[in-house]
Amino acid sequence: NHQIILAERPKGMPDSGTFKFVKKDVEELKEGQILVRTLFVSVDPYMRGRMQDAESYVEPFKVNEVIEGGSIGEVMESKSGNFKQGDVVIGMFGWQEYYVANEKEIRKIDPSLAPISTHLGILGMTGLTAYFGLLEIGRPKEGETVVVSGAAGAVGSAVGQIAKIKGARVVGIAGSNEKINFLKEEWGFDEGINYRTAEDLESEVKRACPDGVDVYFDNVGGEISDAVFTQLNRYARIPVCGAISTYNLEEVDIGPRVQPTLIKKSALMQGFTVGNYSERFNEGAMQLGQWLQEGKLKYRETIKEGFENIPNAFLDLFKGNNIGKLLVKVAER
Ligand code: NDP
Repeated sequence: NHQIILAERPKGMPDSGTFKFVKKDVEELKEGQILVRTLFVSVDPYMRGRMQDAESYVEPFKVNEVIEGGSIGEVMESKSGNFKQGDVVIGMFGWQEYYVANEKEIRKIDPSLAPISTHLGILGMTGLTAYFGLLEIGRPKEGETVVVSGAAGAVGSAVGQIAKIKGARVVGIAGSNEKINFLKEEWGFDEGINYRTAEDLESEVKRACPDGVDVYFDNVGGEISDAVFTQLNRYARIPVCGAISTYNLEEVDIGPRVQPTLIKKSALMQGFTVGNYSERFNEGAMQLGQWLQEGKLKYRETIKEGFENIPNAFLDLFKGNNIGKLLVKVAER
């Protein structure tokens, strides 16, 4: 069984020294256990936070242990009455080729509904993050302007499309012209801003949002968010979902303080994690699935192949080498 373990806690951007490939025998199944072969591994920005030994909403990874994360696999052997060989399952078994699971650690998914990989993306964690963060905190109304950063990524692309479904005008901020074209042509965004080539981000946001910003769904933090903050409307809502521009910083980066803006605009800024809505995941997944079927919602995945490419795929998130959900396909079903 090949596994990838955390070799050392990274300082700044992780590199090849952060991870180590090891080989370990698969344990014998005990009563109630299930042997799962990994098919897809999810790589997610929040995993960077878990590499640090710092208090958060999830436990830090342990040094010399397998990197844990969302995965989809196939049951090879089962000593549980609830799972049988061939079942497709989802769990947090992470960066390893095989996993001996206890019943409560995995959940069956129905491969006939949608491609199985979507349960790690649009119908899974990132789709649900977009759905609940936007609708519960952002609460876009028809005709309002919604700005989303990290717009061509897994969460951002879903946020923009859901905002369109709700009748908003949608502006996406992303890191390449290819992404901006994709946002507009594939996903129906009204406007896009390439933050890498923009000469003055604040005036770009102003140009793209002539009526100001009613909802800012923040995936990135940093200077991009500073620019959007200058254009907030009265009673703006700001779901704070992620701050990927800061995850690899070695020192805290303090920008303009936002409190005066929030006061002047009576704006609401709220951080959240998707787990806050775990009791409503079924409702969210059903709605996302329905929109997919109706063709109102589209998704894209960037799929890298091969177990050995998992660490590089993870690093690709910070280079912007993905459109939509980034996944690694480890084995064929
Ligand atoms: P994405 O698919 O959006 O991939 C990450 C993207 O971030 C890259 O493609 C890149 O696109 C962009 N990016 C990387 N570095 C920077 C930077 N320095 N400045 C601006 N943009 C950057 O990942 P996800 O959709 O999975 O996650 C998006 C955000 O949502 C992350 O911040 C993540 O932590 C957060 N998140 C939060 C959850 C929650 O429960 N609160 C749950 C899931 C995700 P580009 O080319 O545009 O730079």
